[in-house]
Amino acid sequence: MRILIVGGGIAGLTLAARLRQRGLRPTVIDTISSYGHAGSAITVWPTGSRVLHGLGLWNSFIHTSAPLQRYVVHDRDGKVLRTFDLDRLGKRDGLPRAAPRAELLAILESANGGTPVDLETEVAMMRQIGSTVRVRFDDGRERDFDLVVGADGIRSRTRQQAELHTAEHRFGWRIWCWWARRGVTPPGELHETWGLRQIVSAYPTQDRVACFVAISRSFNDTGTEPWPPNDESRDSLILRTLREADRVECIDLVEVTVPQWIRGRIVLLGDAAAGLVPTTGIGASLAMESAAVLDDELVRVDTAHIDIALTRFARRRMPRVDAEQHRARVVGDVMMLESPIARHFRDLGLRYFPTPVICRELDRWNNIPM
Ligand SMILES: Cc1cc2nc3c(=O)[nH]c(=O)nc-3n(C[C@H](O)[C@H](O)[C@H](O)COP(=O)(O)OP(=O)(O)OC[C@H]3O[C@@H](n4cnc5c(N)ncnc54)[C@H](O)[C@@H]3O)c2cc1C
Repeated sequence: MRILIVGGGIAGLTLAARLRQRGLRPTVIDTISSYGHAGSAITVWPTGSRVLHGLGLWNSFIHTSAPLQRYVVHDRDGKVLRTFDLDRLGKRDGLPRAAPRAELLAILESANGGTPVDLETEVAMMRQIGSTVRVRFDDGRERDFDLVVGADGIRSRTRQQAELHTAEHRFGWRIWCWWARRGVTPPGELHETWGLRQIVSAYPTQDRVACFVAISRSFNDTGTEPWPPNDESRDSLILRTLREADRVECIDLVEVTVPQWIRGRIVLLGDAAAGLVPTTGIGASLAMESAAVLDDELVRVDTAHIDIALTRFARRRMPRVDAEQHRARVVGDVMMLESPIARHFRDLGLRYFPTPVICRELDRWNNIPM
């Protein structure tokens, strides 16, 4: 099977690793010039962990990630609303673990002897001729493939080239991300402050802490302004580290929905198929799951029947991805509630919601069949 994977991110490298595990040699391309840039932190949930286990990468991941044992939510005055004991909640399926994105990518790339990625390479044009996709790369080379997988992220160009209808929705949140030294939060504790139209989060990885501020309001510039000072958060220890940060990234959140993931022999994967807002930190785990399911369907067909595998893949994944997209949106809305009355009831709910119900929900969530 001649497979082209456009995008060597989390979804693309997971798929490549799975295909290589059973002897296939997909071509993987990416526009970046190197994998050096750290990016932010990625939390991998047990649903993503089982894919890493299947690839024999779990031990490597353990060595570069840190477990999140407690999730501490603060109100706008910094008072602790609730501490979720993830150790207790996640007893059966394991804990979520956080690692720098670059390290997760390095681990995925190393699987099964290493996946070669053609860097600084892009698809200029693709055309379907019968059951083949003819691809012209930006350097003028042309090659035929039996399958093209668009794993090129939320701004997917493959999606455009395949003319798959896309709905893009600005979520109205701007996020600033930076790294702080270890010690800003106790090890193993993920801290989040739910303020008025503002969320501050700190995710500890092994040797440093990924910090985020999200602000919800209408921004009419293009994301270059520095973080707007806000009295409410002046005293936050996390925000004070912003002044020492080497680099601050600023992202305007968008949500992308794609009702149809397949066009002939072209299929979308990961954020290219559904761009979630990162309020639940599940996008990477979902992308890894989807890659595993796509491989699982491809293994069952020969080249002549790839279209059947693609249909089965979409049927298995779309309901799960839709549900997670919906959940991420609702969680975002709840985090940023504006009405004082609604916030009061939200905070009461957070404080007193029964732990067994949360455990049951987490259990159900971690064990949804792929
Ligand atoms: C601030 C923030 C925090 C997040 N935190 C978490 C978290 O804690 N946990 C979690 O699970 N998820 C998190 N996510 C979401 C997660 O990053 C994504 O869901 C995940 O990276 C999706 O993987 P992907 O491979 O589909 O896309 P990406 O990881 O974006 O990879 C796409 C790849 O395609 C390449 N590419 C782009 N265009 C082209 C092109 N035209 N040709 C070739 N290659 C191309 C890119 O260079 C990139 O390498 C977060 C997202 C954000 C924005």
